[in-house]
Amino acid sequence: MAYSLHFSALVVKYLPFFAVLRRPAAWLFTGALLGAHPARSQAPDLLAATYYVTGWLPLGGPTLGEEAPHLLAAPAPIPLTVGQSVKTTAASDEAQLYTFHMMAGQVAHVVADQQGADVVVTAQDPNDQPLAEVDNPNGSKGLEILWLQAATAGNYRVAVHPLEKNSTGTYQITLEAVRAATPADAQRLRAQQLMAEGRKLRGALTLRASSAAERQAATDKFAATYATWHELKDVREANLAMLSLAITSANAALVAAKLPSSTNKMTVYYSPGFEARALAIRANLEPALAFLTTKLHVSPVVNLAILNQAGWLLPHPQLQIPYGTPHSVPGLVLLPATLEFDKAVVAALKSGLTASQLRALEAAGGFIEQQMQAYFEDIAYHEMGHLYAYDYGVKAPTHWISEFLATYLMESYLIEN
Ligand SMILES: [Zn+2]
Repeated sequence: MAYSLHFSALVVKYLPFFAVLRRPAAWLFTGALLGAHPARSQAPDLLAATYYVTGWLPLGGPTLGEEAPHLLAAPAPIPLTVGQSVKTTAASDEAQLYTFHMMAGQVAHVVADQQGADVVVTAQDPNDQPLAEVDNPNGSKGLEILWLQAATAGNYRVAVHPLEKNSTGTYQITLEAVRAATPADAQRLRAQQLMAEGRKLRGALTLRASSAAERQAATDKFAATYATWHELKDVREANLAMLSLAITSANAALVAAKLPSSTNKMTVYYSPGFEARALAIRANLEPALAFLTTKLHVSPVVNLAILNQAGWLLPHPQLQIPYGTPHSVPGLVLLPATLEFDKAVVAALKSGLTASQLRALEAAGGFIEQQMQAYFEDIAYHEMGHLYAYDYGVKAPTHWISEFLATYLMESYLIEN
C-alpha cells in the first residue's frame, strides 16, 4: 500500500520534471522507479526522501524569517464544548475565536485539523494574556495540536488564523478534552513551549545573515522539543520537531563540524579529500547563481555541501536522507562527494536491458554512465531553483508545482547557457 502511494506521488511529482525529458537514461531511471525494474527496491527510500525534502518539507512551508500574523479584532468567540467540532473556512484577514471554561489547574486539549488552510492556533487566558501558540511545519494539511493549562478558573480563548494573509481554506477545530492535569501533560506543555521558543528564535534568523550561534540556539530548542516528545512516545510531534530542527540546522551543523570550506560567490563545505570536486562543482554552479539573481532580483544564500558517506547526515541527521540523493534545505544544496549512488542506479538499469536496448540508448545519448552522472549533477541546479523560488516568495500550493518551478529555473539556466 505504501508502495502504491509512493507510486502515485512519483507520477504526480515527476511528470512535470522536464529534466527527465532530456536524456534517455533519465527516462529509464524514471521507468525503474515506476516499478518494472530491479532498481525498484530503491524507490521507496528515494521517494520518501524526495517527498520529505522537496515536498512536505517545502522551501515554502516552514519559514525562516517570517513573522507570525498578528491578531486582529474579531467577532465574538464561538463557545466550544468537550467533544464538539466546528468545521469552517479560515477567515482571510482575522482570527476566528473559540472559547470554553476551565477550572484552575485543568488542562485542555484542542486539535485543529487543517484541511486546506495553513493555520496558526493561539490561546489566551481570561485576561487576554497569550498562553500558547502552535504552528507546525506541516503546511495546509495535518493537525495543529494545542495544549493549555489554566492558572485560574475562567473562560479561555483559542484563536485560529491563517498563516498568510488573504489565504483561506478549511479547517476543523475540536475541543478534545478539558480535564485534570497529568504528569505527562506537564511534559507536553513544556515541549510545546520549547517549540514556540524555537520558532521565535528561528523567526529572528534571516537566510542572508545569521550566525551559526544564532542558528544553534534555535536548533537547541528544537532538539529539546524532540527529546521531550520522544520521551512521551509521541511520534507525530517528535517528527515535527525533527523537521523544524533539520531546516534550521543544516549550515550550523557544517560549521560546527569544522569541515573544510572555501568561499567565493558561494561557500562550499566538503568532506576531507574532496576539495577538487567541490571547487569544480561550485565553478559550474556559480554562473547559475549570477544568472538567477539577475533574472529574479533576489539573492538567497546558496551554500553548497559536497559530502561523502561519512559526512552525509551531518547537516540534518534526523532526516536520514539516503546517501547520494541530491537535495536542499534553506541556504544549502547537498550533493554526494562520490558516485556510488549513481553507479548503483546505472548497474540496476543495465541489468534490466538487453544488449540491443543498451546500444540503442547509448547511440542516442552516449555512455549510460555519463548520461546518468550528468543527470544527477544537473539536479544541483534544480536544488538551487528551490532556494530561489523560495526567496522569491513563492509558496507553491502543491508539491509538483514546487518541483516544476525548481526545474523550470534549472532549465531556464541550462537552455540559455
Ligand atoms: Zn526538488
